[in-house]
Amino acid sequence: MKPAPFRYADPRSLDEALDLLSDETGAKVLAGGQSLLPLLAMRLAAPATLVDLNRVPGLDTVEATGDGVRVGALVRHARLLRQTPDAQAAARVQPLLARATANVAHPAIRNRGTTVGSIAHADPSGEMTSVLALTGGSVTVATPAGRETVGWQDLFVGPLETSLAGGAVVVDAFFPALPERSGTAFAEIARRKGDYAVCGAGVVVTLDEDRRVSAVRASYISVGLVPEVHDLTEAVAGEPVDSADWAAAGALARTLVDPDTDIHASADYRRLLVGVLTERTLADAAAEAVQRSA
Ligand code: FAD
Repeated sequence: MKPAPFRYADPRSLDEALDLLSDETGAKVLAGGQSLLPLLAMRLAAPATLVDLNRVPGLDTVEATGDGVRVGALVRHARLLRQTPDAQAAARVQPLLARATANVAHPAIRNRGTTVGSIAHADPSGEMTSVLALTGGSVTVATPAGRETVGWQDLFVGPLETSLAGGAVVVDAFFPALPERSGTAFAEIARRKGDYAVCGAGVVVTLDEDRRVSAVRASYISVGLVPEVHDLTEAVAGEPVDSADWAAAGALARTLVDPDTDIHASADYRRLLVGVLTERTLADAAAEAVQRSA
């Protein structure tokens, strides 16, 4: 199918973009187009105007500081996987971001699709929504009234649905730094490499000064309608990292999630994968935590 007719606008400043978005009824932001254009082609969306952000200056930066990583609205997925100084700094400060990004789709899609577009799209099968949640992240939202920071808990309302007002532009996403003595890992199961995952898991393990487990958190993709963060600490709290019972944490995770059955997998299969992926990723994250504690 072809999209319904729409007006196309390519503003040269954020103010102009916000004007266009507030003037028009049914205007939508276009970033990488990797989710929006298929929706238009299938006529699942039919905005009157597409406001293309791609010529707005200042939205394509990756800034890594001691506090975390700020990713601008025009930063493509692929950018975070390059061996450039900004991407390498981002991977040191918050390694989960690049690790999860490597699982997003195929190279062609990662070359156009954006990290922030993925978050604004709010697909519960997308990796970036889960990473924003697990890192305790937020987005900066611009409207004609000004800018505000919206934490992940207040952003995701349902599948493909956020709390953003119509006409808002997400200017950047902020992923807080990995805490001291912590490690992360990410893994997923997809039918073919590059497909949306049947189930995925991201985890963070934190150790105390004696290398005992002090905190374990996990977030899953394609499990539930919105991203959630699960605290698995009680299963392994105080255990020495070398002998921690990660299988017990996986078993706890299985009891906490509430997956759905769909055409790709049953709820029971997804629950099984949650346990397996949790156990596997926790072992990897613990190894990184040991390394970063040295
Ligand atoms: P667009 O398609 O341009 O926009 C998506 C939505 O977000 C639109 O509603 C748009 O209005 C809104 N939006 C975008 N940017 C902003 C902004 N700055 N402010 C406000 N609203 C905004 N994604 C995954 O996570 N994992 C996958 O495995 C995966 N596989 C894919 C496989 C295929 C075949 C395809 C086509 C896509 C896949 N994707 C996957 C989606 C891809 O990651 C997209 O890049 C991403 O979902 C959206 O980013 P975008 O920049 O392309 O956004």
